[in-house]
Amino acid sequence: MINVFQPTVGAAELDALSEVFASGWLGRGPRTAAFEAAFAAHIGVEPAHMTFLSSGTAGLFLAIELLGLGPGDDVVLPSVSFVAAANAITASGARTVFCDVDPRTLNPSCDDVERAVTGRTRAVVILHYGGYPGDIAAVADFCRQRGLMLIEDAACAVASTVSGRACGTFGDIAMWSFDAMKVLVTGDGGMLWVRDPELAARAGRLSYHGLAQDSGLRSAARVPHRWWELKVRDFGRRVVGNDVTAAIGAVQLSRLPDLLRRRAEIVRLYDELLADTPGVRLPPPLPDGHTSSYYFYWVQLDATVRDAVAADLLQRGIYTTFRYPPLHKVPVYGARVVLPETEQAAEETLLLPLHAGLDDDEVRTVAGELRAAVRRHGAGYEEEQR
Ligand SMILES: *Cc1c(COP(=O)(O)O)cnc(C)c1O
Repeated sequence: MINVFQPTVGAAELDALSEVFASGWLGRGPRTAAFEAAFAAHIGVEPAHMTFLSSGTAGLFLAIELLGLGPGDDVVLPSVSFVAAANAITASGARTVFCDVDPRTLNPSCDDVERAVTGRTRAVVILHYGGYPGDIAAVADFCRQRGLMLIEDAACAVASTVSGRACGTFGDIAMWSFDAMKVLVTGDGGMLWVRDPELAARAGRLSYHGLAQDSGLRSAARVPHRWWELKVRDFGRRVVGNDVTAAIGAVQLSRLPDLLRRRAEIVRLYDELLADTPGVRLPPPLPDGHTSSYYFYWVQLDATVRDAVAADLLQRGIYTTFRYPPLHKVPVYGARVVLPETEQAAEETLLLPLHAGLDDDEVRTVAGELRAAVRRHGAGYEEEQR
């Protein structure tokens, strides 16, 4: 079976885990702080604004809480988003207003975002589809002009940049995900970045029982009188990462350049192998000045054959999928909009296997089987008509 996503972990991560085990300290501690600092350096921000969490989803819930969003507020979210973002918004009592996306990039344009803004809109939550930054710079400008808060769901964009600036640093708050299928994995985990220093400190407290930050990790030299007493400042939860997951994350971060290089090679190979294949449309090229984390590689097929092609590939041991099924079609969110571009993209798009563990032969197999399956089902994709 060729997996669509797969983590790339091995001996170096195991060595790091051995060290954690030997240290006798598995919880949040020095390795967590070191990972936060290393990740902050990678993104180009201050480490004090980073909090390592148990998941990216926890980061989304914290972001909504930190910005004080709730009943009476509208929040714009592309319909092509992961369910966690809509849940975080909806659970707060705020209303999710879904916006359309570009049918080729599956990222919203700034106009798509603007069209979804209402008189009650207070914030925009936006992701970077498959690691492609999209219109984030323009959306950030727009939000600033209109006084809207911007949350970047940078789950897919661990190493994506626009003009050298990291995705995740364009808005007020961002989170990244390190779950088992992402580009950088810790098993489960996420990172939260908060621009405002006071809110960043509050994020740290909210993620750990609402306790004042200095009541956690302290050195023996700074032990106060009755160190066991509680300093509760907020009604927090417990969604922190720990030294086990941080140790894996630190190794993965050091390997990130290699992991990205391999992903980029695979993308180039797919582009080459599938170029000019009748019935197969390739992802648009990255705009100048953008870099991608290459989390997804997607093709677009005629809607009448996409599902059959996916089923054929699965039978031949090639797992493909589609992310993210449009949320405005999920009844529980109560949306009553029609988003034509989103609906079209959701019928045509198929994600091919992409992870650093794929070898060239496997990529050739996927491309060859895709070509064959599309041919079997009749190409049918009339490029001229579009
Ligand atoms: C994976 C993902 C998340 C959720 O992150 P977890 O760490 O799995 O909780 C959120 N948003 C997007 C776009 C994702 O791909």
